[in-house]
Amino acid sequence: MDFSFTPEQDQLRETVRRFCDQEVRPLIEEAEENERFPVQLFPKWGEMGLIGVRYPEADGGGGFDKVSECIVREEMSRVCQAFASTWSAHSHLGIWPLWKAGTPEQKERFFKPALAGEKIAAFGLSEPDGGSDIRALKTRATKVEGGYRLSGSKMYITNSPHADFITLAARTRPEPTVDAISLFIVELPNPGFEISTLKKEAIRSSETGLIYIEDAFIPDDCLLGGVEGTYPVILECLSENRVGVSANCLGMAIGAFEAARDYAQTREVRGQSIGKYQAIAHHLADMSAEIEAVRWLVYYGAWRVDQGTIDGATAAKVKLVASEAAVKISEMAIRIHGGAGLMREYPVGRIHKDSLVYVIGEGTSEIQRNIISRAMEL
Ligand SMILES: Cc1cc2nc3c(=O)[nH]c(=O)nc-3n(C[C@H](O)[C@H](O)[C@H](O)COP(=O)(O)OP(=O)(O)OC[C@H]3O[C@@H](n4cnc5c(N)ncnc54)[C@H](O)[C@@H]3O)c2cc1C
Repeated sequence: MDFSFTPEQDQLRETVRRFCDQEVRPLIEEAEENERFPVQLFPKWGEMGLIGVRYPEADGGGGFDKVSECIVREEMSRVCQAFASTWSAHSHLGIWPLWKAGTPEQKERFFKPALAGEKIAAFGLSEPDGGSDIRALKTRATKVEGGYRLSGSKMYITNSPHADFITLAARTRPEPTVDAISLFIVELPNPGFEISTLKKEAIRSSETGLIYIEDAFIPDDCLLGGVEGTYPVILECLSENRVGVSANCLGMAIGAFEAARDYAQTREVRGQSIGKYQAIAHHLADMSAEIEAVRWLVYYGAWRVDQGTIDGATAAKVKLVASEAAVKISEMAIRIHGGAGLMREYPVGRIHKDSLVYVIGEGTSEIQRNIISRAMEL
């Protein structure tokens, strides 16, 4: 067993940390206030090679691995989860299916410009009638001459208000079976797509859309891989991303812990810093210990992805533990701040709200428990 990162991975962490602290942190306040993502980050991420970090060099990526991608996610989320969620919806959900199952032409046309941050991607799976029960999705794709006609709706789609394309799931046959579900690459704007931006309480500067789709024409060459029935690609994509977003949860927990520790060192009550009170010191000790446990669970999950041995239940365990820990740790960070914890001047209130995103998104904690217990064959 070897728990060390490679010198290249240490270097990557240092580069991303410096970039996030120096260039990203100053953008947060305005972006959160206006609920607008600073789109100039896309080409910047592309230029730094951060979008394609886990994709092979042969496909235009950085040639690193999932462990390295998790380092990038951890460092991004330590500073701002809204920006990291935007990155995740683009760099993983929106383009991983293209990398995995796209035709060479689709890779040239969509995947490569997305790696460079020239095109913005989104992933459209969830619908107003159900996010957890993805097999029940209702958006219909009807075969017509030269392509498909899509009708339906999509809910909570990250990046959709400013996306250049959406990798979108629709039912290509009416049967309620999973092999009737296919993926399309929908170029935007499309006259059949009406996208409105949702107002949110968490990850406010990550832009999230509600989409109405009415008789939208999608040409044949935008059916992912040129074949129907790509539901297994969706499952594999989600499973790997459960490990990925767990690294985001780790980053949020670290960001909250660091803020609470710094506050405990400087805030004085009755003539001494609050960190000198054992009650506060013990809370910080618990937070630090839990972060250590989550860190190694997350990187174990990433290592399993790199080994090609990750399974749905393991990915669900990693996400369940990491996401719930981020919620708990960031709530404690607020308590340690006292009243200041609820003031926007301090980051911990934002981090706590943002942490709730991953006990819901990418499958709720209840769904993770369903996946884990199903594997037990009780
Ligand atoms: C900020 C944000 C960004 C998102 N981005 C995207 C995106 O980019 N693309 C995308 O496709 N989706 C996205 N989502 C959607 C997200 O994946 C869903 O919200 C999530 O899967 C839950 O679906 P739902 O909201 O419809 O909740 P529901 O499915 O209605 O669930 C409601 C409650 O019932 C529980 N529940 C449901 N089914 C079961 C069950 N079988 N057993 C036990 N409990 C159950 C759930 O755990 C939850 O507590 C995003 C969501 C948010 C909040």
